[in-house]
Amino acid sequence: MAHVLGIDLGTTNSCVAVWRDGRAQVIDSAEKERTTPTAAGQPTPGQWIVGAPARWQAQTNPEFTFSGLKRILGRSLEDPLVLQAQSMSPFSIEASPDGFAWVRTRDGLQSPQTVLAHVLRKMRSSAEAYLGEPATACVMTIPAYFGIAQKAAAKEAALLAGLQVVRLLPEPSAAALAYGLERGADKTIAVFDLGGGTFDVSILKIRGRAFTVLATEGDQFLGGDDWDSRIIDAVADPFRASYGVDLKADRVALQRLRDEAEKAKIRLSSLEAYDIALPWIALDPRTGQKLDVFHAMTREALDELTRDLVARLTPPCDAALAKAKLTPRDLDEVVLVGGMTAMPAVRDAVRLLFGRTPRQDVSPECAVAIGAAIRGAALTGEIRSITMNEPLPHSVGLELEGGAFHPILKRGAVTPVRKRADVFTTSQPDQQAVAIRLYEGDLTVAGDNRALGVLILDGITPRPAGEARFDVTLDVDAD
Ligand code: ADP
Ligand code: MG
Repeated sequence: MAHVLGIDLGTTNSCVAVWRDGRAQVIDSAEKERTTPTAAGQPTPGQWIVGAPARWQAQTNPEFTFSGLKRILGRSLEDPLVLQAQSMSPFSIEASPDGFAWVRTRDGLQSPQTVLAHVLRKMRSSAEAYLGEPATACVMTIPAYFGIAQKAAAKEAALLAGLQVVRLLPEPSAAALAYGLERGADKTIAVFDLGGGTFDVSILKIRGRAFTVLATEGDQFLGGDDWDSRIIDAVADPFRASYGVDLKADRVALQRLRDEAEKAKIRLSSLEAYDIALPWIALDPRTGQKLDVFHAMTREALDELTRDLVARLTPPCDAALAKAKLTPRDLDEVVLVGGMTAMPAVRDAVRLLFGRTPRQDVSPECAVAIGAAIRGAALTGEIRSITMNEPLPHSVGLELEGGAFHPILKRGAVTPVRKRADVFTTSQPDQQAVAIRLYEGDLTVAGDNRALGVLILDGITPRPAGEARFDVTLDVDAD
């Protein structure tokens, strides 16, 4: 079998790895970075710039630079998470004909999967250049909480980029694979993933080479970008006070400031102090003279500015442990994932929260892609097989007459799973067709859950109400 790429499609950054010469190898982007920003921008209609270059022009082309699309992928416009993303988004998020959250591009309304496909296509071509042969298959990672519509959208994004998804893999399970935690004794672990825009914490059980996600919690609006914004404010506020110039109102200045703020944050993970310097960032409105930013920043000052952000890491960790009915003592290992876990204050918080020193020996931005590549190698038979027991994040069931939701597969049912529902019947005399409406969710009114589709069963022999009987079997595969 040809190579199967391991793809981590992240909210902020994506990464691709592949199993080669007996190990998982990360493939550099066209810009020679280990990750590719999950961003695509349109300077003019019909033209797309993707990855790092899209990020470089984000601030000067905000309306048509698309990032953070993973948050809205496969969700309806009314989804509370989409509404929140919409309220903060510089680009326009609108309803598709089916009510899904799409984005307004210079070429019209497009699905997030269509835009994300540009990023995947770019990674695919880096992989093909590296392998020297076409790449057409991948294992793609997804958050453990992704529902059916989100998984379908993720697969579609890959397909649009010419990649068949051979398997979807939960991100925390991928991270555990990257750390080789399926080797040795059975374990219970926590995976702590703090990225650029999202925070996820999951508890996993590993028995032999089988992985089960016991609980997953997080904050979809907490990540490295928030740390960067604090640095931007710390620089821009005193600058405005001194010179009466608002750097945040000038798009070019803000782009430079944002890039420099992120650089400062990253440097302060290894250094105690860093001088933010941005020469000629503005002109003094009174004298017309060139103004520079010079701001001496220390790690201590950054920690002070972001103490409340670190505090927001606690509730999801507590909730995940509570859901798994575990205490920190029950954990055998805590694993760090996501670029932000390089930050000493974040590591200290993890140490306090879980009462142990976390594992961080695999590069945190690449661990998920590495795990996906390992999963791919197990599928191609290069290494021993691995089993993923994935509990359904939401119940799946039907709408009953009157609108109530009837779950057939309950939340937490481990996939693959097949279940036959109780016998259903007609409600009208001589009824010849029934509409079976499938929903995913846990709310009692079917329509409040996520609609998955409708199956029309017709050709029913006319009979008095309640006499035609049929049953429904739901079959959910490993994806
Ligand atoms: P995601 O999985 O959410 O797409 P990543 O895991 O790649 O994102 O994390 C990206 C975030 O990590 C960015 O905010 C980036 O600035 C931050 N980051 C990367 N390296 C470091 C570092 N050494 N110290 C602090 N933050 C870092
Ligand atoms: Mg990630």
